[in-house]
Amino acid sequence: MATERTLSIIKPDATKRNLTGKINAKFEDAGLRIVAQKRIHLTKAQAGKFYEVHASRPFYDELCEFMASGPVVVQVLEGEGAIAKNREVMGATNPKDSAAGTIRAEFAESVGENSVHGSDAPETAKDEISYFFAGMELVG
Ligand code: UDP
Ligand code: MG
Repeated sequence: MATERTLSIIKPDATKRNLTGKINAKFEDAGLRIVAQKRIHLTKAQAGKFYEVHASRPFYDELCEFMASGPVVVQVLEGEGAIAKNREVMGATNPKDSAAGTIRAEFAESVGENSVHGSDAPETAKDEISYFFAGMELVG
């Protein structure tokens, strides 16, 4: 399998509870390398653009409010099959369905406030990485 990069976001519910280190340990233990990382506070408009694909969903407004409610840590994870591997480490969207040991099983508070975002395919990974990072910020 090829080396891939994927976009990860540690969401406001997790930064608020000081969980950045514990979540990063899950990534590193799974063999994912954090090759870029920064803590930022999104505006609701910036969150809205990021989640544009969900604009027609009933949870969209609440999701954008939540993503702008506190700081997030945006990061690029790199590794063999990183996109799927990160989705595995994250666990299912709804923590009620997340496998034991996953980030969402351990830390998510609800289906909305579920601690992490991860890209779902190579095309979205590429677009999402470039939404937050310039090429020269990815140090490998
Ligand atoms: N979300 C929500 N209610 C739902 C489904 C999703 O609030 O019923 C939020 C949740 O924060 C989720 C995000 O919208 O992580 C994006 O949804 P998606 O289906 O892409 O889930 P993910 O890829 O994050 O697992
Ligand atoms: Mg998604």
